[in-house]
Amino acid sequence: MTPPSDDDLTCRELVEVITDFVEGAMSDADRARFERHLGECAGCTAVMSQFRTTIEVTGRLTEDQVSEAQRHAMREVFRRWRDDPASNGADDPI
Ligand SMILES: [Zn+2]
Repeated sequence: MTPPSDDDLTCRELVEVITDFVEGAMSDADRARFERHLGECAGCTAVMSQFRTTIEVTGRLTEDQVSEAQRHAMREVFRRWRDDPASNGADDPI
């Protein structure tokens, strides 16, 4: 994983502002950073698509529902990365 530059969103930051993005409550500059991160990060792209699906299904999310959906989606994505042996050799005892 490449360390993010000062100007880049981290995955954690992205998930915190995801509701602003979905609601269109984001400045042009923040939106550009958000979209750039999405373009480079498969995990967050997956989270976004789950998010959009959730919104389509429920129509409109309350803030509590969004928060829970965020947490759940991010947990799933990160667990998948961690459990994928092809992308994780850090715990190898050798
Ligand atoms: Zn990300």
